[in-house]
Amino acid sequence: MEKTHSEALYKEACEHIVGGVNSPSRSFKGVGGGTPIFMEKGEGAYFYDVDGNKYIDYLGAYGPIITGHAHPHITRAITNAAHNGTLYGTPTKLESQFAMMLKNSIPSLEKVRFVNSGTEAVMTTIRVARAYTGRTKVIKFAGCYHGHSDLVLVAAGSGPSTLGSPDSAGVTKNIAEEVITVPFNDPENLKKALDKWGNEVAAVLVEPIVGNFGIVEPVPGFLETVNQLAHNAGSLVIYDEVITAFRFMYGGAQNLLGVTPDMTAMGKIIGGGLPIGAYGGRIDIMENVAPLGPAYQAGTMSGNPASISAGIACLEVLQEEGVYEKLDYLGSRLEDGLNNIIKNHTVPATVNRLKGALTLYFTSQKVQNYDDADNSNDVLFSKFFKKMLNQGINLAPSKYEAWFITTAHEEKDIEETLKAAEKAFDEIEK
Ligand code: PLP
Repeated sequence: MEKTHSEALYKEACEHIVGGVNSPSRSFKGVGGGTPIFMEKGEGAYFYDVDGNKYIDYLGAYGPIITGHAHPHITRAITNAAHNGTLYGTPTKLESQFAMMLKNSIPSLEKVRFVNSGTEAVMTTIRVARAYTGRTKVIKFAGCYHGHSDLVLVAAGSGPSTLGSPDSAGVTKNIAEEVITVPFNDPENLKKALDKWGNEVAAVLVEPIVGNFGIVEPVPGFLETVNQLAHNAGSLVIYDEVITAFRFMYGGAQNLLGVTPDMTAMGKIIGGGLPIGAYGGRIDIMENVAPLGPAYQAGTMSGNPASISAGIACLEVLQEEGVYEKLDYLGSRLEDGLNNIIKNHTVPATVNRLKGALTLYFTSQKVQNYDDADNSNDVLFSKFFKKMLNQGINLAPSKYEAWFITTAHEEKDIEETLKAAEKAFDEIEK
């Protein structure tokens, strides 16, 4: 596969942009290095790069692109919004319309506020939880990524019930000590942490279905226990649904699982491919936010007509009949096909799938928490990733990420992907 133009552009980018990328996950550091491919055009399920290569895309821009690239309904909505001016700094009718759409689909959102990214949404839910409870500490689960605000850039590693240490230079020890990390799917360690620090904990922050060490579902009863333990301790429960909102059904993972948090953070899909975030929850909690309450949160770009229009259009597409059934069907085809390939090879691998999202881990163990995912084989993943890329299948360059199917994928794309995966497994096994 020809890559000379990508290589030249990457070289140039490295001269001007830190590491040549504007988000570290786009570099190929997680797959043993190499040149990130420079894409020129996205259309439906496909990408076209600057060297003229075509790819079936499963990155989905790390989650937002659920209707395929450049979906005509969303593109039209963005174009129309641009004609009327992209940013007002005043309220618009669209914001309430979109807020209502979110509230109608996720009942725990009694009031919402739009921001510009998932990072902002999560960061603000924590601030509001602290304002509401008058407490400072937060419990999160090992390996869950909640954006890059200081407080949540802590202890993505293992170590049950320990006070956090910073994962990033520049995050102070004092901040890290406000975060307690426990393993996902492990109610006992959560209980221990709450027994010890419960009266200082403002909130337990959790991805109801994990998307950040691959797709990992909660074991039955886990989220109910999170609610019970947190509430007994007087703490709030915050769901980070930045990946999961509208991913598995029209609504949140909370609808799918029948559990209710006090607050929810969202992003990605609800922006239809433009920058957005949103948070919301119980009225008595949300009324702590400025201008009604003392917890300050603001944003020049928040609720801008372009992002809101794209979000509304995206949800309109997702309301069409059969959308989620199709994602589930294609997901099951992909999962079954990968499992067949695994069965016919000696390469250790396992698939976690929920509807249109899955992760292929190079381990024979079941993956239920971060340590399980972390223990999967980096070298095998890197080989697989590169062999797939060279056959025109674009995956995220990290063993911890998910493959996202879009409404634009078709059965023939899944078949082509499985053919490529089979070849990759054959070559890895040799
Ligand atoms: N929360 C989760 C679960 C995420 O996966 C991400 C991003 O990947 C974020 C928060 C941060 O969102 P953003 O990148 O829009 O700031």
